Amino acid sequence: MSLLYTKDHLEFYAGALDFAKRVVAPGLRERDAKAEADVSIYRKMGEEGYLGACIPEKYGGLGLDYHTLALLSDAFEYVDTSARVIVSVHNGLHSLALLQWGTEEQKQKFLVPVAQGKRIATFLLTEPAAGSDVAGLQCFAEKKGDRYVLNGEKIWISLSTVADQYLLMAYTDREKQKARDHHGISAFIVERAWKGVKPYELHGKLGVRAGVTGGVAFENVEIPAENMLGQADEGFKVAMSALDNGRYTVAAGCVGLMKASLDASVKYCNERTTFKKPIGKHQLVQQMIASMRQSIDAGELLVWKAGELKNKGVRNTRETGMAKWFATVAAQQCADHAIEIHGAYGFSNEFPVERFWRNSRGAVIYEGTKEVHQLMQAEYALGYREDAALRCELPAWPVK
Ligand SMILES: Cc1cc2nc3c(=O)[nH]c(=O)nc-3n(C[C@H](O)[C@H](O)[C@H](O)COP(=O)(O)OP(=O)(O)OC[C@H]3O[C@@H](n4cnc5c(N)ncnc54)[C@H](O)[C@@H]3O)c2cc1C
Repeated sequence: MSLLYTKDHLEFYAGALDFAKRVVAPGLRERDAKAEADVSIYRKMGEEGYLGACIPEKYGGLGLDYHTLALLSDAFEYVDTSARVIVSVHNGLHSLALLQWGTEEQKQKFLVPVAQGKRIATFLLTEPAAGSDVAGLQCFAEKKGDRYVLNGEKIWISLSTVADQYLLMAYTDREKQKARDHHGISAFIVERAWKGVKPYELHGKLGVRAGVTGGVAFENVEIPAENMLGQADEGFKVAMSALDNGRYTVAAGCVGLMKASLDASVKYCNERTTFKKPIGKHQLVQQMIASMRQSIDAGELLVWKAGELKNKGVRNTRETGMAKWFATVAAQQCADHAIEIHGAYGFSNEFPVERFWRNSRGAVIYEGTKEVHQLMQAEYALGYREDAALRCELPAWPVK
């Protein structure tokens, strides 16, 4: 019984968890150790409809609500962060931005195949010299007739070498770029197969080792003008509103990661004996277990609140940011407790908890570092920050 979710939600969650256990879990430990991704998993996710879960049926999706996106992220990350990352970049950051900002023609052309899982999509904001500091982007797309010519490089991009379609932010106004005025940034749909697009993989990652992370260089890449998402000065708003959806999936995924840390710890607490007692009977171990349970409950509530606002079509940048900040930091803490509870065995990949910790570490950094989120929350509380209405808002559910 759940006060937050309906029977249909819970059935969806159980189905997604079963899928992740059947499809993602086999061979995961080896893939993680060798830093290898199994891209056949993306195709199978598409076949199940997961890659278009909360995209309306008329655009090729399942037409489910935004809570479903959280439950999908939670279930996938329970098994491995690499599976949830696909939901974050493909569904959260890319597809929902198309639903929010795309013209009808763009939705038919770019959103339908992505929601059907026939094409994989991702999000390209970060650059070698600009992560948190988005106004510092170096990528530039120069207007030449009916096209833009793009030059520059993106880095730390999930699915860089496997996504067919990118949502990319670049300056289109030189004067505004010089002045660091983000109104000079535009958003584009770019295809990996185009001439001059050079994706590559990054190696030596601490976490998400069973997933692809890399960069993409762009050399005189010609983008048709009709591939601009939103208007010429709206790229920053497109990116930030996309992050409202990406961060939601990260927060929800971290709830799944906390549940995985707790479940592994509870199991071990009842298996391992010290001083003639199961370690779960030691109060200092109980303290860690209680703290994990507390973080899961609080994280779930924050995620649900953001999802409820999305369903109602209410702006949720503050609430989503709060959920992301809380859940990512809490997931790292839970994974750390899980390692502690496993003692030396937690330090080995014989148990999954060291992977949970390595995976949790990245989420504290991507989609806004914990420092950036703290600054945002302080500014809201102090009255220095307010969200102005957008020209295009994420549609309420059910989408008309
Ligand atoms: C596994 C992984 C996957 C990713 N996937 C994607 C993706 O798909 N697409 C994409 O576009 N990006 C992606 N990223 C990039 C990610 O979003 C950035 O790494 C993140 O935004 C931080 O930027 P940065 O790494 O340049 O750090 P920086 O911005 O250089 O920050 C460095 C440090 O300085 C702090 N700092 C910076 N500015 C301030 C300030 N004003 N006040 C206080 N502290 C500050 C930060 O909090 C941080 O601690 C991914 C990253 C990782 C690790």
